[in-house]
Amino acid sequence: MATGSEKSEVSLLRRPAEAGSKKSVIKTAIFYITDNGFNLAKKIKRLYSDVEVLKFKSEAVSEAWNERGNLIFIMASGIVIRTVAPLIKDKRTDPAVVVLDEKGGFAVSLLSGHLGGANKIAKEIADFLSGQAVITTASDTNNLPAIDLWAKENDLVIENWDTVPEISTRFLNSGELRVYSEVEIKMPEGFLRVDKPSSADVLITNKQFKIQNSKFKNKIYLRPKNLIIGIGCNSGTSVDEIEDAVKRALAEKNFSFLSIHSVATIDIKADEKGLNEFVREYGFPIKTFTADELNKISSESGVRSIRPVGSSEIVFKATGAYAVAEPAALLASGADELLVRKQKIGNVTVAVSEIKSGVRCQVSGAALPPHPPLDKWGRRGGKGKIYIVGTGPGSVEHITPYAQNAIRNSDVIVGYGTYLELIKELIKDKEILSTGMTQEIERCKKAVELAMNGKTVSVISGGDPGIYAMAGLVFELLKDRNALCVMRYALKDKNSSPITDYASRIYVEVIPGISALNACAARLGAPLMHDFASISLSDRLTPWELIEKRLDAAAKADFVIILYNPKSKGRAEHIDRAREIILKCRKPETPVGIVKGAMRENERVIITDLKNMLLHDIDMQTTVIIGNSQTFVWDNRMITPRGYEKKLLRRS
Ligand code: SAH
Repeated sequence: MATGSEKSEVSLLRRPAEAGSKKSVIKTAIFYITDNGFNLAKKIKRLYSDVEVLKFKSEAVSEAWNERGNLIFIMASGIVIRTVAPLIKDKRTDPAVVVLDEKGGFAVSLLSGHLGGANKIAKEIADFLSGQAVITTASDTNNLPAIDLWAKENDLVIENWDTVPEISTRFLNSGELRVYSEVEIKMPEGFLRVDKPSSADVLITNKQFKIQNSKFKNKIYLRPKNLIIGIGCNSGTSVDEIEDAVKRALAEKNFSFLSIHSVATIDIKADEKGLNEFVREYGFPIKTFTADELNKISSESGVRSIRPVGSSEIVFKATGAYAVAEPAALLASGADELLVRKQKIGNVTVAVSEIKSGVRCQVSGAALPPHPPLDKWGRRGGKGKIYIVGTGPGSVEHITPYAQNAIRNSDVIVGYGTYLELIKELIKDKEILSTGMTQEIERCKKAVELAMNGKTVSVISGGDPGIYAMAGLVFELLKDRNALCVMRYALKDKNSSPITDYASRIYVEVIPGISALNACAARLGAPLMHDFASISLSDRLTPWELIEKRLDAAAKADFVIILYNPKSKGRAEHIDRAREIILKCRKPETPVGIVKGAMRENERVIITDLKNMLLHDIDMQTTVIIGNSQTFVWDNRMITPRGYEKKLLRRS
């Protein structure tokens, strides 16, 4: 029976801080030899956001090997194999290697097909070039999920890698794997759920089982990262003592160290050296709480199964909290009960709780956004998720790859019809919830509800979601829900929790997009090179008097002025009035840019001036940019000088 010892777990996990979960942007290097190769490289560059095209040299390859996530070679595979052979270590760390012929007819996934993502890259490039991807990994050619890839996609840590080949072969031969899982997880085809650990090939659990007489000798252990370790320690406790205490506390109760999700403690320990070294070493997020927050939990024995018995006068004198490890673990996990009550081991106290929400399944589609920030509880998302996504001015090319990924990974897409129409290609296989322009509150409420029920929801806004769009509204709704929770808790409602309802249950991320002001400025030239003010002329949610006041202030202060929502059928006169106000402080010749449908099929760009601007068509798909006193027009471009020209003139 291979449960994997604590020792082997530790050697697996020990790593420098930078190599932890925060490894951020995946960089791609494309190597070429010939001119044809160079031209093809330039073409492929458009497919990825962070790419460097490099002339092939073996030293450059060695350098890129350690720094880049993906290496693409446009040359004969023999050259590539000879060059990378001495660099190969193992499938967990080697970068993806993809080889292309000069014509782009074949994209060969050569190395790290699954975990490194070479298969996916080969398919993407082949699709892009209308060529053929060459994939040789058996699970792919048999259309079966690869266990290591599936584990990665579901944020499960493989404990005993040595079993991967045998389990994969078992799966390929029989088309079935029996899976015992203690977390909620969607099984792909061929994975059969079983109730008894002893009859499973795959065990998804944070517990160290001792199984005797099992039918199969080898089982694979996948560890969900769902344990929160509450830690209290005396000042000056060493990293080794903390590490040892955590391992002993877990081992005694048969929990896996690999299942640690994060560490929780009191805020005054945030700078404790030993504790900091411990979390850095393993890449664990750390979440801290104030003494007040911790005391609330320790004293509410009815709400949480933690009695003030665990409290200590000594701890109180030193920290102001009656207890640290237990309430911190509970607060961070949102759980009602501890898995492991406080263990005092030398200078360290350790308590363990489990994140309630389990693991979300991301079986198919593109990878999750590569590095979502942790939420305020130090979690990479609970059951449900809301991505508040900006889709830019209109065309799919102007949506960031990160935002596209979030959309692809969502179960439900919520948004206003016109914006959804613009991204229809991206969302054709999604559940869609679309409503009219003025029903945004309903839309956002629905999104929150869906996320509460465990769905991953993308709330779509055109442009940037935080600029006259949905992000603020989603947070306002969540804040209201919070207030309700806190009130229920204050009224001693047994079913309520002092932790905000949503914070313990859903993950929220705002994903930026190119706003109309960026898109329109780009089309006009460079009108926003100096300070600018953006003003929406919509008085649906803002009193018109306030809008006039802001127009007046911005005009007086010589800001470049961007007018969003310049005109609608109901209030055609607003733009006239805005012009009047601005004309009080600016010359009639001041350049004005009018951009309709930037980056859309119906795009129209006009450069005029304050005097003539009303002669042109201005509607709700239009943004108007009014120059400051220095803005000029040159070569049909609108330019606001930053001051460089003075320097240039002085020099020449
Ligand atoms: N969140 C959006 C703004 C929504 S308010 C953003 O960041 O861009 C809607 C207004 O944005 C429109 O009335 C128009 O003034 C402007 N707008 C949005 N997309 C535009 C585009 N493609 N071209 C020009 N203006 C646009």
